[in-house]
Formats: sequence, C-alpha cells, structure tokens
Amino acid sequence: GALSLPEVGTGPAADLASYKGVWVFAEWREGVIHKVGHELLSAGRKLADKRSVELAAVLLGYQLDKTTIEELISYGADVVYVVDHPELAHFRDEAYAKAIVELIRQKKPEILLAGATSMGRSFIPRVAASVKTGLTADCTELDISDEGLLLQTRPAFGGNVMATIVCPNRRPQMATVRPKVMKPEKKPGHHGRVENLTLSEECFKSRVEVLEVIPEQDQTAKLTEADIIVSGGRGLRKSENFAIVEELAQLIKGAVGASRGAVEEGWIAPSHQVGQTGRTVAPTLYMAVGIAGAIQHVVGMQGSKVIVAVNKDPQAPIFDVATYGVVADLFEFVPAFVQKIKQE
Ligand code: FAD
Repeated sequence: GALSLPEVGTGPAADLASYKGVWVFAEWREGVIHKVGHELLSAGRKLADKRSVELAAVLLGYQLDKTTIEELISYGADVVYVVDHPELAHFRDEAYAKAIVELIRQKKPEILLAGATSMGRSFIPRVAASVKTGLTADCTELDISDEGLLLQTRPAFGGNVMATIVCPNRRPQMATVRPKVMKPEKKPGHHGRVENLTLSEECFKSRVEVLEVIPEQDQTAKLTEADIIVSGGRGLRKSENFAIVEELAQLIKGAVGASRGAVEEGWIAPSHQVGQTGRTVAPTLYMAVGIAGAIQHVVGMQGSKVIVAVNKDPQAPIFDVATYGVVADLFEFVPAFVQKIKQE
C-alpha cells in the first residue's frame, strides 16, 4: 500500500534561517553505540564550529545508560537529545523515522548526519522524504561552503568523479556517511548537556513487531571491524587458491577480504567484498594479493594505515596506494611468506 508519511516539509518558501545546529544520529543497537556515531560527531564538530552553532547527538533507545550518553559528549556533542522509550528498544524503520521527524519538527536542525549502515540506509531516506528535503547517501567528505551550505561530496559515475552536492532550499540538509570514512577524535574536557525529550505516542506506532534479535555471525561485521585484512583478487586464478589467502589471514589473525573480481568469479561470498559496492574498511594492515587496484576497490581500502600489495605486474595501479609493494608471483611469494612467519 501507499506509505502515508507525516508532512512537515520546509518547501522553498519556508524560513530556512530558523533551522539551526548540526545533528548527528547516534546509532544505538542492543545497548551499544555504533562507532560511526563517534566518527560523525568528530566530523560534525568541525561543521558546527564553522557555522558557529551547536552540535547535537540524537540518541533513540531504551534504558540508555549514563556512560553511553557521556561518551557522546566526549566526542564533541554540546547537547545529547535522548528519547528513551520501551518501543525504541529494537530498531524499526517506521518508529525511528517518525521519532526523528518529530524531533526535526520540534528543534529544526539545519544539518542532519547519519551513518550509512544498514540502519541508517533503511530509515534515513524515509525521514528525508517525510520532511521533503534532499539526502546525499555515502558521502566521503563534508564541509561548509562560503555561503554556509553543507558541501556533500561523494564518488559518482563508478568512482570516476567526485560530486559535490548542495541542498540550498530545503532543511535539514541531510547526508549519510559510511563507517570508517571519518576519524573519531575525543575532545578531552568537552562539556555538554543532556536533554530528555518525550514524543507523542503516535511516533511509536509501527506495523512491525520485533520478536527476537539474533546477533549477526557472518564475516561482514568481522571485516569492517578487523585490524588486519588479507584480500584476494582475480590473480588467484581459481576458487581453490583462495585457501592461500585464508591461510595467511588466519596466521596473522586477520579477516579475509576480496575484490569484486574474485567475488564475480564465485570464489568467495559477496559479504567479503571490499570497495565501492562492497565494504569500506580501514584496518591497521591491509594486504592486497593479486588485486589490480581499480579505483572502485581502492576507495574501499585507501584509509588503511599500512597497505601491502602483492602483484606480478609492476604497473598495477594498486602500487600507487601501497605502503609496501611486492612485485612477485603470488604463488611463490605468499607460501614463502607464510613459511617465514611460521618459523618465527
Ligand atoms: P583484475 O583486474 O583481473 O586484476 C588481477 C590482478 O592480479 C592483476 O593486477 C594481475 O597483475 C594480478 N595477478 C595475476 N596473476 C598474478 C600472480 N600469479 N601473482 C601476482 N599477481 C597476479 N571492485 C572491487 O574490488 N570492489 C568494488 O566494490 C567494486 N565496485 C565496482 C562498482 C562499479 C560500478 C564498477 C563498474 C566496478 C566495480 N568494481 C569493484 C570492479 C573493479 O572495477 C575491478 O574490475 C575489480 O576490482 C578487479 O578485480 P581484481 O583486481 O581482482 O581483478
């Protein structure tokens, strides 16, 4: 059926100047704040300072504890808007969207940022549609223009250009950012206040009821959190050879990643894919084995601290982003490397 969304649209004629402040949606699930919330507060802090406005963290959940709230302040929030309600114990699109829409109506933020996580991706577009504003998904850079607008930059056309998008006539200006794109930075000694807000019961009505929550066990979560990742590409030639990458990963306690080339060959599940249409990762160590280094792969791993590339082609573009480049046949180098580690 058709969705009936509450209309609070700003429209071109609305008083844009009455919208003030930068908001970060602090994603909370089963008692834990998603790290992207901390990352966005650090990014939001800079935007708020440039606009000389307040930075707010918006926290929806149930039985929210003091430490969680205070931590948001330590990442730069001037105020934490808390809505604590049993109906917010589990994430549901409709309820979360209605809650944020009502908060926007009450407080009128000029900018709203959220993580491009499965949660953000699913309900933030509803919020934008409800308030009739624009939304730029998957931004990799945020800034403020000379006119005071939010500059929302993201890769476009298969990563071939970086597009900067503005939303001049509607409020709030909304953007999502993938986890690990922005750096979280604590602000020691930063002070902030907490405001507990109540919303109308109408907000919590939803056609969905959560019966049980089963934590995700698959690789996806492991991949984005991993400190070490060893990724394999089409250079591995066949499915069985992926074992070479897996053995190395296991040995150095890393997670296994892949290029889309390897995923398309069916050698490994899509949940392992790193890149523009896969996961964005930023581990301490990223090893790319038999991966060419196409831009769509690189955008998903260039934030890694140390990048080691193994490729037999000295011209491979992966060497442009690699900290250490190994020009070698992977079938010779990796087994020898594994042997060496085992000896030590
Ligand atoms: P190839 O390009 O085939 O490269 C294989 C590499 O292995 C070569 O550099 C070769 O020199 C090397 N090699 C071969 N044999 C050996 C050997 N014995 N020893 C050492 N090295 C060897 N790609 C992603 O990875 N992630 C994405 O999210 C993604 N999203 C995309 C989105 C769009 C819209 C498009 C158009 C493309 C996307 N791609 C993505 C695909 C991307 O453009 C590349 O096609 C892909 O990354 C190539 O994978 P590959 O490097 O494994 O394979």
